[in-house]
Amino acid sequence: MRKELILRRRNGESSNGFGEFQIPAPAARVTKASLVGGLSLILGIGSIFIPIAHFFLPWMIPLAGGIYAYSLLSDKGTLSDVRGACPGCTKEVEFTGGNVERPMWRRCPQCGEPVDVEVKAPPA
Ligand SMILES: [Zn+2]
Repeated sequence: MRKELILRRRNGESSNGFGEFQIPAPAARVTKASLVGGLSLILGIGSIFIPIAHFFLPWMIPLAGGIYAYSLLSDKGTLSDVRGACPGCTKEVEFTGGNVERPMWRRCPQCGEPVDVEVKAPPA
């Protein structure tokens, strides 16, 4: 979906932009995270029977699975096609998208100014 963005310079000057925002539905995230967590537990238990590997795989696989499941649950969505007037040089530019994070620093392709991209109305 199309979202309004705030493009902010380090000195606080800001301008408006738009970007394509995508986030998986909460139910889909919970399902995926549960699958990853459950599967890593099963694989971890199964690896107890592998000689030598049983020293580290039984705890390493569930730990990695748990970390990945947590990252799936805390997904804040992704932005693409980020466009707007750069608050530095005021030119209409396109910034690189990526995972939504706070702060989300992107460099202006025209003037090289670091710009913090913020989604105006974050989804609940
Ligand atoms: Zn610029």
